[in-house]
Amino acid sequence: MPTFRAPRGTHDLLPRERFAILRLERIAADLATRYGYRPIETPLFEQTGVFERGIGEVTDVVEKELFRIAPRSEEKESWALRPEPTAGIVRAYIQHGMQTLPQPVKLTTIGPMFRYDRPQAGRYRQFWQFDVEAIGDAGPGIDAEIIELATRFYGDAGLPTIDLLLNSIGDASCRPGYIDALRSYYAKRVEALPPTERARLERNPLRLLDSKDEAMVAINAGAPVITDHLCADCAAHFAGVRAHLDVLGIGYRLEPRLVRGLDYYTRTAFEIYPPGVAGQQSALGGGGRYDGLVELLGGRPTPGIGFGLGLDRVLLALDAAGVSLPPEPATLAVVVGADPAGTAERLRVATQLRAAGLVARADLSVRKLGRQLEAAAKDGAHFAVIIGDELSNGRVQLRDLDAGTQRLVALGDLARELARAGEQHRHG
Ligand code: AMP
Repeated sequence: MPTFRAPRGTHDLLPRERFAILRLERIAADLATRYGYRPIETPLFEQTGVFERGIGEVTDVVEKELFRIAPRSEEKESWALRPEPTAGIVRAYIQHGMQTLPQPVKLTTIGPMFRYDRPQAGRYRQFWQFDVEAIGDAGPGIDAEIIELATRFYGDAGLPTIDLLLNSIGDASCRPGYIDALRSYYAKRVEALPPTERARLERNPLRLLDSKDEAMVAINAGAPVITDHLCADCAAHFAGVRAHLDVLGIGYRLEPRLVRGLDYYTRTAFEIYPPGVAGQQSALGGGGRYDGLVELLGGRPTPGIGFGLGLDRVLLALDAAGVSLPPEPATLAVVVGADPAGTAERLRVATQLRAAGLVARADLSVRKLGRQLEAAAKDGAHFAVIIGDELSNGRVQLRDLDAGTQRLVALGDLARELARAGEQHRHG
């Protein structure tokens, strides 16, 4: 047993996995750029109030899952690690006066989020999210655009199909009426409610709808649905979102019990799952409108919408769908030498190759040529550059490790020759 291990609920991204996530990050950044989202980076921690006020105090994320940073005695502020990026981005939008920019302000970020959740498969305490936010557009076109961007990401990442679940959760004018209906529905069944849900019934009955407790499944099946309670404006907005999605040819399933875990959402709410898989734990991503959030965090009333997508879960889903991870880029060439002690020459030649943009490494060990060649082949390198007596004439042997052939090449031509041979290798 090692003395230290990664903290419970976290996982090291070893090179193979990190490479796969890097690829997803590149796909995400490329998509975000094409759709006009500009990158933003906010701190990994914020004043606790940003999350308490923004996300809502009676939510799983704040009540149970917030990673609070223990304050040092001289500090007056309290901080927490970000459980999601929206609240911090909206805080930055307000702080930097982005209301004065042309609206909407479209922002994107990729990075780790932290939730002190019970660790299990697909549920980590530190996980990676790709996030986009469009602040300052009341929709419904932008809602559809964001949903389409989300679905395109999964396709580009290599997931053949996904399920898109869509709902409207109303706004300040119609949700209270719905919440009353919900409260009286649950109040009639209070005996059957698990204790945590009972405690939330008064403060936030909406939370009972997305409870992870098994006992709630049957109860929730008969609960009133929000879409029967939408006001005219919310109903029109929701119809608009669907009409835009239809024009784009984006298929979705209406899911009237989808409420999302955070308080700040209004109107459009959506979640994305692997095909045929339900349950919070498998959600590949989710998002929605948050028309009250900017005001809640101290800014002028401003609408907004965004989505966050779990990159770790996308990797799990790719694996489950049998999509193999792209291979890591292989070393093109290893520079080896006949003189076991001649490491400086090997390093000099490798340095020239790398300066020319090639993926090359020098064998810097003091060992016989045969052992150096064996190690190069084991490493998956396609070529070995062998430094021997010919170096005095400015030449080296270029050995194709797969074919087992070799030829003399002038040092001045080596980078060009290797680049060409590498190309042939890739296509041959
Ligand atoms: P949420 O804000 O909870 O909807 O999270 C957005 C997305 O982030 C989810 O759909 C998941 O893909 C991912 N996610 C959320 N929580 C976790 C977690 N604890 N571990 C891994 N991924 C997560």
